[in-house]
Amino acid sequence: MTQKIPLEDGPIIAQKRRKGFPLEKIGQEYGVTREGIRRFLRDHYPDSLYPSPDLISISEAKEIVGVSADTFKRMAQKLEIKPEYSSRFITWWSRNLVNKMASRRVCRICGEPLPKRHYAICNNERCRKEAYAYRNRSPEARAAHQKAVSRWQKEHPEAYEEIRRRVWLKRRHKGHA
Ligand SMILES: [Zn+2]
Repeated sequence: MTQKIPLEDGPIIAQKRRKGFPLEKIGQEYGVTREGIRRFLRDHYPDSLYPSPDLISISEAKEIVGVSADTFKRMAQKLEIKPEYSSRFITWWSRNLVNKMASRRVCRICGEPLPKRHYAICNNERCRKEAYAYRNRSPEARAAHQKAVSRWQKEHPEAYEEIRRRVWLKRRHKGHA
């Protein structure tokens, strides 16, 4: 595959890659695939693929944190973490900072590390129940719930009346017990 790429072009190719040119785009110039260029650089200019062991690409970073690339970017923005290097095509992230981001991903209830694709609450049944309990919801969520309840009450006056009657009966029963 890589024999199509003239060795004397190596320094130019490596330089382009260091500037962040996508592998596909470089490959097109030589009629080779993305993988062909990657192998060529790995064999001749490995430092151009990974500029430093402390720097990682977003695809590695999102795996470490356990979120999608978009979520990773949003998290970084929120934490005011910027890539160490960024061009039109590529961003390199500090491995240290990414590890710190990963360690911040803990369950809101139990504080254990969050599994992949979980964003606030872990897999634990108890944590989920606790998190969705009315008393633990945000004031906004409570207000929205109250609004939905009063709308339902207006739309279903008979059913609402029936519920009130049952509650009243239950209370009276308890009072006598
Ligand atoms: Zn938990």
